[in-house]
Amino acid sequence: MSRKDKIKEVAEKIRNIVGDEYVSDSLDVLLAYSVTASIGFDSYLPDLVVRPSSTEEIAEIVKIANEYKVPIVPRGGGTGLQAEALARRGGIILDLTRMDKILDISEENLSVTVEAGVTFGKLDKALIERGLWFPIYPESSLSATIAGNVAVNGAGPGSALYGCIGEQVLGLKVVLPTGEVITTGSMANPNSPGHYLRYAFGPDITGLFIGSLGAFGVITEVALKIYKRPEEFRHVTYGFEKAKGAMEFLRQLLLNNISVLHACIYEGDMLTFFIEILGEEYGIPQIEWPPYVVSLTIGGRKDVVEHDYELMESIVTHIGGRNLNVPQFPRGEWMDRMHVYAKASYIHPFYWRILYHHAPIMRWDKAAEAIREVLEKYGLLGHTSGLMSGRSYNFYPHLYFYVDDKEAFEKVKQAHTELASKLLKIGCVPFKLAPYWIGEIKKLRKYYDFLRKIKRVLDPNNIMNPGVFLED
Ligand SMILES: Cc1cc2nc3c(=O)[nH]c(=O)nc-3n(C[C@H](O)[C@H](O)[C@H](O)COP(=O)(O)OP(=O)(O)OC[C@H]3O[C@@H](n4cnc5c(N)ncnc54)[C@H](O)[C@@H]3O)c2cc1C
Repeated sequence: MSRKDKIKEVAEKIRNIVGDEYVSDSLDVLLAYSVTASIGFDSYLPDLVVRPSSTEEIAEIVKIANEYKVPIVPRGGGTGLQAEALARRGGIILDLTRMDKILDISEENLSVTVEAGVTFGKLDKALIERGLWFPIYPESSLSATIAGNVAVNGAGPGSALYGCIGEQVLGLKVVLPTGEVITTGSMANPNSPGHYLRYAFGPDITGLFIGSLGAFGVITEVALKIYKRPEEFRHVTYGFEKAKGAMEFLRQLLLNNISVLHACIYEGDMLTFFIEILGEEYGIPQIEWPPYVVSLTIGGRKDVVEHDYELMESIVTHIGGRNLNVPQFPRGEWMDRMHVYAKASYIHPFYWRILYHHAPIMRWDKAAEAIREVLEKYGLLGHTSGLMSGRSYNFYPHLYFYVDDKEAFEKVKQAHTELASKLLKIGCVPFKLAPYWIGEIKKLRKYYDFLRKIKRVLDPNNIMNPGVFLED
């Protein structure tokens, strides 16, 4: 059968499952789904876009895709920045945004269960009415879906204390690449009163899907831990003469269990860049900035925050830093977190590639140096931004290029590859796997082979987001 006929037959069968309205092969629709927020990458035209409304429908669709060996790429908000939700082998884009119900807010189990397509914004709105809180709020929260973020194991403001989102997942419902449906964690017991424990029934099956970029199955439901909303916040900036002081300070925050929700290290040009775009809006006073600035927010119960603030002040004095008395910067970052990142990324005429990675806290300086070195070698603009994420520093450096400058784009691609290699050498690891890491991950032979074995067992026909982090 020709490819065209195959797709036609597949489309017909899927229409019978989800209804005509929710399957499209119109060129305008395919074009819209040929790109995501990953602006520095090639686009790929899918053959079909399908918008299912339930786990059962997805299971049926996946079975058909296996029968015809047609690739399926799950897609949430399409806000991923590393070319993850693209139909690089053609096939079906499975848009999950119709599945946007908040299924259960359980104050008894302190958990919330949502369908795959619920956005962070929608979840926050539902929780706020009850004084509850999900602590991680990526800067793309009005469009990014919870399941999409679990599939990349994302982070954001809130991650300094609560880690990447994987740390907050209690259980999942997943359609496996063969069309079977599993529920992980305590809910695997049909008599469970809800999701309350992830590590149930032996090995951590939930973890298999966290960060799997849709290559191991389609997540259709996610259960997360929820908390009481913090009653008190303090926003503080500290200055340090040396990178070592800033790093040691972050380490001390961890060591002393300080309730730090968000912390970033800013340096040199990057600081100037951020102050230039945000300074006026946030009312940041013009001061003589020291070489390294830690901008942070602590939050939680009032008595804890007051105590932690005092402790933080004594730690800073002890390690030779100083309070800069500029709360406007971290307050803006915390209150307006959608915009800080978006502004840094989109206000100018550039496209960019990002190179998400985690560095050990005490190697922040080495990672920043590697980024600067590569930018200088290739003559590119860029920055070393990131945020503290539990015990690591989650960098998201940007490498910019002019939209129409093909030569610069080639340079960015080369610089990107070189930087990935450099970062692994100094002990960093990918934050979110992505196609561009494959070359480097392959060098970790045994690890890569093991990933491939898992993929083969789960997905014998290699239909789930093929090529996203493993070669076929
Ligand atoms: C302005 C801006 C700010 C950002 N800030 C942050 C930030 O602070 N923190 C952060 O972590 N990221 C950030 N990102 C990146 C992006 O928003 C996150 O990666 C986000 O979680 C992706 O979610 P999504 O729903 O858009 O997923 P998509 O981009 O649609 O998909 C991402 C990956 O997940 C897979 N996937 C999606 N849904 C499912 C599912 N239901 N089952 C299985 N696999 C699935 C896809 O196949 C793909 O591989 C930002 C992006 C932008 C544009």
